[in-house]
Amino acid sequence: MLSMMPSGGSCCVCGARDARALVDVLLPGGARATLCGSHALIHRRTRLQPRSESELRALLSDRRTRGDRREVGDELGAALASAFSDERREQSRRRA
Ligand SMILES: [Zn+2]
Repeated sequence: MLSMMPSGGSCCVCGARDARALVDVLLPGGARATLCGSHALIHRRTRLQPRSESELRALLSDRRTRGDRREVGDELGAALASAFSDERREQSRRRA
């Protein structure tokens, strides 16, 4: 799912252009997106499966801005998570 092939682009979340830090990730459905090391790590840790660069951006930049990975993407994240993990959704409800 995650390849370490170098990319000539930039992180689709934060726009970082350090080619040595960039990785291409394969999204569900076969699309590819470029992420920096930090966002690739976050993407790899999340159970959510964003299907496009715009979803990645919404998911990962949201996470970064809030600075609390437990509250990531309450809107998009909840919608995505509901498809993959009912348990995760239950945790959201309890927090709310
Ligand atoms: Zn980034």
